[in-house]
Amino acid sequence: MSKTVAEVRAEFPEISDEFVYFDNSATTFKPLSVIEAVDDYYRKHNSNVHRGIYDLSVRVTELYEGARKIIKDFVGADDSYEVIFTRNTTEAINVVAQGLELNQDDEVIVSDREHHSNLLPWNKNGTIIKNFIPNENLDDLQSKLNERVKVISTTAWSNILGKVTNLQEILELAKQSEKITLVDAAQWVINEKVSMKNIDFLAFSGHKMYAPMGIGALVARRELLKMMKPVFYGGDMVEYVHSADDFALADIPHRFEAGTPNIGGVVGLTAAINWIKENGYFTDEKHELYRYAREQMRSIPHVNLLPGDDIICLTVEDVHPHDVAQCLNNDHIFVRSGYHCAQPILEKLGCGPVTRVSLACYNTHEEIDRFLTSLKNVRQKMGIANV
Ligand code: PLP
Repeated sequence: MSKTVAEVRAEFPEISDEFVYFDNSATTFKPLSVIEAVDDYYRKHNSNVHRGIYDLSVRVTELYEGARKIIKDFVGADDSYEVIFTRNTTEAINVVAQGLELNQDDEVIVSDREHHSNLLPWNKNGTIIKNFIPNENLDDLQSKLNERVKVISTTAWSNILGKVTNLQEILELAKQSEKITLVDAAQWVINEKVSMKNIDFLAFSGHKMYAPMGIGALVARRELLKMMKPVFYGGDMVEYVHSADDFALADIPHRFEAGTPNIGGVVGLTAAINWIKENGYFTDEKHELYRYAREQMRSIPHVNLLPGDDIICLTVEDVHPHDVAQCLNNDHIFVRSGYHCAQPILEKLGCGPVTRVSLACYNTHEEIDRFLTSLKNVRQKMGIANV
């Protein structure tokens, strides 16, 4: 039987009725099971991986290597994929963008709504970057395909506009055209069950799915990894080293993980996956809260909503989004304002910075009502008449 929202809230120690946290796209709170798993690792199991033949290190190495399988199961990746641990989504995309060694004869196509971390990493060695609009018939994407295009890289779930509803059609077209595909799953992994269908590379961050900061993953097709150059060099990613230019890379995936990894982070990520497996994604519950909030907000004068599902970006006429966020903060409601590291799509929509509401499994109707009451008063608090 699924838990009530009160039961869910009780599992997140940082949650409090004193404030409302609506910045979950930036990062989520952590359930006790994750905090305890990390605590337990540092109290009882701390040692380095791959380096010791003593019991503690062997156990931790098993834990660390075993986590790759847990991640593969979580995203539905079969044995043709490998998992590489990274710090976050940004690093995972950089590992691919630099590792593929594209040049000025190559093109990369990204959607028009990418986070800066799925845009700037591709800007290497003169590679041409084009945008496509993920519209229904995909004619825009189709028109940009040619033999110079090597990669199609798209978000599955924009942090400004929400879910890309025709992701599978985009990926199918990419695969029919024999392009490499990368999906930015930073907002996807927390919102619904991921599928690796037609995906070569999947990048995500732990901290947006209840896990600690500083751990993320790249799930990648082994055949493609074989063609890629590691970005980071040093210990733990080599078979032997005779000198700086006489060395052999370790096997995949280890050659892509130079230096001591974030083992505590991997332990926390595993615990977060277990939490999701046990409790689910709360997709419908969040969808219903967003629907309710949007419906109510439409009747608030001078509040404008950006399009999109399962995320809310808004502006209040004549009030800067930072002032909106500050007014809400004065009522202990925490939202984010600004460009959200996705400036190109906001500029394209002609709206500049915005205030964003992003929800998680522990948010409630009451919290939405508190937010709505506060939002209604923003203009008045700023000394602007609400006529
Ligand atoms: N992609 C999307 C859609 C995001 O929302 C974010 C972060 O907000 C990122 C990528 C980057 O994630 P990170 O900062 O964890 O690398």
